[in-house]
Amino acid sequence: MSIQDFKPAEQLGTPIPSQYTLVTRNTFFATEEERRRVQQDTEYNCFAFPSSMLVCDYLSDSGTSAMTDVQWAALMRGDEAYGRNHGYYCMLDSVRQTFEQGDNAKYLVNRVLLNTDVNWILENQQIEGGFVNGGRFQLERPNFFITPQGRGAELLLYSTLHQILLADKPKEWMHSHYVIPSNGFFDTTEAHCHTAGFVPLNMFAAHFHDAFPIADIGKRNPFKGDINVAELEKAIAKYGPERIPFVLMTVTNNTAAGQPVSMQNLIDVHALCHRHGIPVCFDSARFAENAYFIKTYEAGFAERSIQSIVQQMYTLCDVFTMSAKKDGLVNIGGWLCFRDKGLFWQRYSRPGRDVGVALKEKQILSFGNDSYGGLSGRDIMALSVGLSQVVQLAYLHRRVMQSQSMAQRLAQNGVPIVLPPGAHAIYIDTGKFFEGLPMTIGDFGGVGLVIEAIRLYAIRLCELGAFGFEYDQKDDEARKGILDLVRIAIPRNLYNEEHIAYTVAAITELYHNRHLIPKVRITRGAELHLRHFQSGLAPIYPEGHPLHNAPTPKPTSH
Ligand SMILES: *Cc1c(COP(=O)(O)O)cnc(C)c1O
Repeated sequence: MSIQDFKPAEQLGTPIPSQYTLVTRNTFFATEEERRRVQQDTEYNCFAFPSSMLVCDYLSDSGTSAMTDVQWAALMRGDEAYGRNHGYYCMLDSVRQTFEQGDNAKYLVNRVLLNTDVNWILENQQIEGGFVNGGRFQLERPNFFITPQGRGAELLLYSTLHQILLADKPKEWMHSHYVIPSNGFFDTTEAHCHTAGFVPLNMFAAHFHDAFPIADIGKRNPFKGDINVAELEKAIAKYGPERIPFVLMTVTNNTAAGQPVSMQNLIDVHALCHRHGIPVCFDSARFAENAYFIKTYEAGFAERSIQSIVQQMYTLCDVFTMSAKKDGLVNIGGWLCFRDKGLFWQRYSRPGRDVGVALKEKQILSFGNDSYGGLSGRDIMALSVGLSQVVQLAYLHRRVMQSQSMAQRLAQNGVPIVLPPGAHAIYIDTGKFFEGLPMTIGDFGGVGLVIEAIRLYAIRLCELGAFGFEYDQKDDEARKGILDLVRIAIPRNLYNEEHIAYTVAAITELYHNRHLIPKVRITRGAELHLRHFQSGLAPIYPEGHPLHNAPTPKPTSH
């Protein structure tokens, strides 16, 4: 028998493993009664439910990643100096390498981890013209701002533009004059945009609601995260470029069910905006996952590396914010940066007032010196390593295959989910889930589903629909912009096949018994802003359910 008789590893019909477990944590399965009591104590608000009582926590993929051994090793190399700690250089370099160097990336952090010399300091001073100035250029024209997380970057960006564009304008300009079109605003991003007096405009792709057959999962992808370019053109014609501070592209599009954005869409948006002098901003939380979808599904990219795709994507924006709690593979961290002397800088710098200096002053006031921006030196080191690891194809493949496999099984079991699946989350279509039952969108059935998944199976999901987006507080027009969904967000590198199988079984069971899922009443704080983090709720179980009119469990004794 010759060696050719063996199938190669890639053709064994099962994925080649690309990681193994080094440290584990045991979880406990509390009783249904115990969980119900705690739900009562926490007003059925799932954000307030203790994670120690859960077996699968899909509330968010944000900051919940398991770090790699190299990241844990990097923590030990953290430098807690107040001035230029060595992590600062590593992080600036890792951003340059990841977003600008493509296949030529050589990460400085590798040298700093080995600690053989300090010559690298001299090599990293004379850099300008990209997203991350070095040495004295970063002092003269600051363009890179470390923040504790994504919303810190958003705070700097939106509040600084408020100062520049709105502070000395008539009051009526607030919430009316400036609009920011987007393929989809994330909730905190929308809140920052609104607070700063700008009007957020979501322009979901026209094909977002198109049906997608289960059989096509893993075979093609329609990039439902794209912005509707025709609508964007109309908005530019209607408002004029001077009333559009920038166009925001969220990659991947979290609010549109985590769907990816195509390179073609990014190219079109960049060309259109630059024709009109409008800067393009990327909300970059899941840039690497987006690049994986481009490589896998967009014509012409199959042979390209993730690194070179990321590099190309980031030639198409002028400014970007990052929540490193997602594709930074860390538990905390973020940044804002803009292209040195690029369109953003040109449009918002005033004589004697560089926009970067304004941003840096706000950064120092809000988060501290630019060397750390609210992070510890350890966090910064872990982040510098995380950026080099998140673009590795084997990791991204494993990540996307895990979500895809969960989606495939749920869909085959009949559970209505948004197809095709994105990378970071599976979204249950609440309307279809309760189709044919006496459950209307204002009954918050999605929240009922979240409550029952915790009570029965110790699984935490997240409602991002009628309740989260304040259906009852909006007029008919604004209601149209709500996608009524329940999200299963999958933490990076944390769960294994057992978790996926258990979750599929539990959610399928909930679906089969959907007529028993309670409607939900808001008992406190219906009018609160970002209320899903804050308000109190109560399930109303249907007649025939054992908990219909059940005495409420006694409060936990103290
Ligand atoms: C998480 C997220 C943010 C905010 O980042 P935080 O790190 O949570 O503050 C902004 N945009 C998108 C698309 C996100 O997913």
